[in-house]
Amino acid sequence: MSNHYDVLGVSQDATAEEIKKAYRKLARKLHPDVNDGPQAAEEFKRVSHAYEVLSDPQKRRVYDTTGNENGTDSGFGGGYSGAGFAFQDIFETFFGGPGGGAGPASRRQRGQDALINVKIDLKDAVFGVNKKIEVDTAVVCPTCDGSCCRPGTSPRTCDICGGSGQVQRAVRSILGQVMTAAPCGSCQGYGTVIPDPCNECNGEGRIRSRRSLTIKIPAGVGTGTRIQLAGQGETGPGGGPQGDLYVEIRVAQDKNFLREGDDLHVTMTVPMTAAALGTELELDTFDGPQQLDIKPGTQAGEVINLRGLGVTHLRGYGRGDLKVHIHVETPTKLDSEQENLLRQLSQARGEQYTEGKLAGSGTGVFARLRDKLGHL
Ligand SMILES: [Zn+2]
Ligand SMILES: [Zn+2]
Repeated sequence: MSNHYDVLGVSQDATAEEIKKAYRKLARKLHPDVNDGPQAAEEFKRVSHAYEVLSDPQKRRVYDTTGNENGTDSGFGGGYSGAGFAFQDIFETFFGGPGGGAGPASRRQRGQDALINVKIDLKDAVFGVNKKIEVDTAVVCPTCDGSCCRPGTSPRTCDICGGSGQVQRAVRSILGQVMTAAPCGSCQGYGTVIPDPCNECNGEGRIRSRRSLTIKIPAGVGTGTRIQLAGQGETGPGGGPQGDLYVEIRVAQDKNFLREGDDLHVTMTVPMTAAALGTELELDTFDGPQQLDIKPGTQAGEVINLRGLGVTHLRGYGRGDLKVHIHVETPTKLDSEQENLLRQLSQARGEQYTEGKLAGSGTGVFARLRDKLGHL
């Protein structure tokens, strides 16, 4: 029987890493799926067996001192049948996964992401806001500190798998009967069992809890914007690291201002006389009162643009505009004196007003209507 070190082409004092590397290189070359010569299959079995022995520190020690491995594992006489661990490594080599050979699974697992909805006012969307929120998530159990064990006790190595978290199972394959590893059913693959679980968390390592948190909501967010807070989600099983927290924004309707993209729209009502004669008006905006210059002859539907008083752009610089839509109020409930004044005005302007009808040069009326429709 040839020396295991020679088979793998490594020196007697090779490190575990060097042995693994050498094995993978050979396994890639000789694997039956790649190389189907009868010699390659034989060679592959020899290489796998050599690796099986040298990759296990205990078997390697016995082999180094006695020159054979039969003293430690009676199953080895038959050749390949005991190569469960190596078989797993083949899977790793060819399929890339971490495989089951990585040892027992950790009880500590990353927690889930959490999502909460936060409603803010339009003004807060314009400028951004620091908002205090309440989050109901899993946190590390304060009694056991995530260990899952009742204080003063500790996990015990699993009797069934001896702490490896895996049990060997015989499966048929292209190489004949080989052993493969499956998670241990007794410890769920953790390698340990918890004989005395923590009372507070029932051995989960985490409990549900409400905590408050101040989040910075940037200017420019809109309904549906999600803010990701890394590591603020649920604590994982076994007190594992927290997932992320997503905050989804809803912007409440404002009673005065309507948002369209990053522009704001507002309607301002101006009396007919003020629209005709011109005036100065004050408009309350999110940036405080603004002086508006209503020019003489302002028409209904005219828009005054206040640059940079809209919503802050979420990305990039600057802000949208505030568009003031002028609504000209036609007076109602006129007394007879007021009516007379308006009639006099109408006559003075030659508008040929006769009871209930606007007669004469109708083209003017239609022209304006056409203008209006053209804008729709
Ligand atoms: Zn606990
Ligand atoms: Zn087990």
